[in-house]
Amino acid sequence: SKLKMEDVVSLCKRRGIVFPSSEIYNGYAGFFDYGPLGTELKRNVKDAFWTEFVRAREDVVGIDSSIIHNPSTWKSSGHLDGFSDPMVDCRETKLRYRADQLYTSPAILLDNDRGGNDKDDGDGGGGGGILLGYVTVMEGNDVDMIKSAETQAKKLLKESSGRDDVKDARSGRDARFKPFEFVDLTQVTEDIMRRVPSPGSGKPTLTMPRDFNLMFSTNVGAMQDATSLAYLRPETAQGIFINYKNVLGSSRLKLPFGIAQIGKAFRNEITPRNFIFRSREFEQMEIEYFIPPGDEEVWGPYHRDWIRDSRSFLEGVGLRSELLGYDVHSGDGLAHYARACTDITFKFPFGTQELMGIAARGDFDLRSHTEGSGKVLDYFDEDTKEKFTPHVIEPSLGVDRLVLALICSAYAEDEINGEKRNYLSFHPRIAPVKVAVLPLVKNKEPLVDAARALFGKLQRRWNVMYDQTGAIGRRYRRADEIGVPYCITVDFDTIEKDGAVTVRDRDTTEQVRIPLDEVVPYLSKMIDG
Ligand code: ATP
Repeated sequence: SKLKMEDVVSLCKRRGIVFPSSEIYNGYAGFFDYGPLGTELKRNVKDAFWTEFVRAREDVVGIDSSIIHNPSTWKSSGHLDGFSDPMVDCRETKLRYRADQLYTSPAILLDNDRGGNDKDDGDGGGGGGILLGYVTVMEGNDVDMIKSAETQAKKLLKESSGRDDVKDARSGRDARFKPFEFVDLTQVTEDIMRRVPSPGSGKPTLTMPRDFNLMFSTNVGAMQDATSLAYLRPETAQGIFINYKNVLGSSRLKLPFGIAQIGKAFRNEITPRNFIFRSREFEQMEIEYFIPPGDEEVWGPYHRDWIRDSRSFLEGVGLRSELLGYDVHSGDGLAHYARACTDITFKFPFGTQELMGIAARGDFDLRSHTEGSGKVLDYFDEDTKEKFTPHVIEPSLGVDRLVLALICSAYAEDEINGEKRNYLSFHPRIAPVKVAVLPLVKNKEPLVDAARALFGKLQRRWNVMYDQTGAIGRRYRRADEIGVPYCITVDFDTIEKDGAVTVRDRDTTEQVRIPLDEVVPYLSKMIDG
């Protein structure tokens, strides 16, 4: 059955993965708190990234820069002038929307009386129809939500046109409603805005789009004026560029090489939405991979390698391949600095969306900071004795977005002995709890001692849990629901006969008998590979 976001959100809350932030004060839009399990999950995701892209490579090193930089950083990077989204306000509800994330449903009445004009008159209807109005404007892309809004829109149209037999003049069928479509209101001219009243009110409900800078500002020091104005970083990338010379000068790196950073980023998103997919405080994992100039064309060799390695990382932490895709930006879809950009997309329950971006940014950043700081950020090639500004490939991935993708990808349902089971099929590497130790009974001392001893041993290596309450079947279900890959049952045979335990596999529910002193090597092979 189709996964619903509300199921994900409710599981996350119930089992301590993600909570709404400041919930006792009714929450705070765009902010989230990670619970005990979510914290482990996030940590595992970051460790996996760091292991794969920093520790396991000789050409990438890590940094951990401050979150607040000298504000000149943001002047040079272009964020002060350009890091904004187009925003519109609804005059009636006072709600704010991102203009490029709105759906509209132009309700088109094709009418005989006004027909006969075949050229598109700009109302989107074409074919001589008159546009009665943009009935509903909404954001998001939840299919059910759109459907119900569409039904409502139809009703409204019939009410406002005073007819309930609205027919398409040509086909004789019911009036054609253009399905909800994704529109960028920044493209909508003032003229169209004027001609598109909301039904009933006879006036446009939305203000014209205007730029809204996404950086959170704060003041540093005792003064609260323009001189103390500073910003919370909206990305971790700039912390890497401003440390380019420091890292180069303190290490023996030779081009091509990369600098990675994992850390918090903050964006005053106009409409945070879809749970932890788009929040106002989030974490990023970014790498700036510096290369010699010459990787300009789309899918240049370095760019291609990073796209391939990124996808293989995402599959390696357990994302189902069939849910992943690519979105290749070109031409108008490209940010002004980017030479090429390919997103790796993920099929979320609310639609296919960007999970990770891999951009070829040319020398834009190092050049801008050279210009802004007066410090030359270049590279001297010992072999050719040439000096130049390196180009850069930037893989950028949101930790929270990946956590959400992992949960959605792992969310599974099956039937065991006629009983429905919900479980998370996390890859053992990223599962928040790796093992559950279950003593068959809790009132037989030698059995409990053996279970506690095993638990103590495993605890030193992995995040494991001990559960002695309830029937064993129920305990399996509890472990399954949070995606524990292995359950170990300590039973009477363990202490009386074979000194072995039963290890149950979450996905297959198959059980194997393993001698106590082989448990750690067995698990370590399964979990750490
Ligand atoms: P969008 O167009 O969706 O706002 P973006 O293209 O501006 O995103 P980037 O600046 O490329 O995003 O950020 C790189 C990565 O950081 C994204 O692929 C995503 O994983 C993550 N990210 C960006 N914004 C957010 C956010 N508000 N909440 C959570 N993760 C985010």
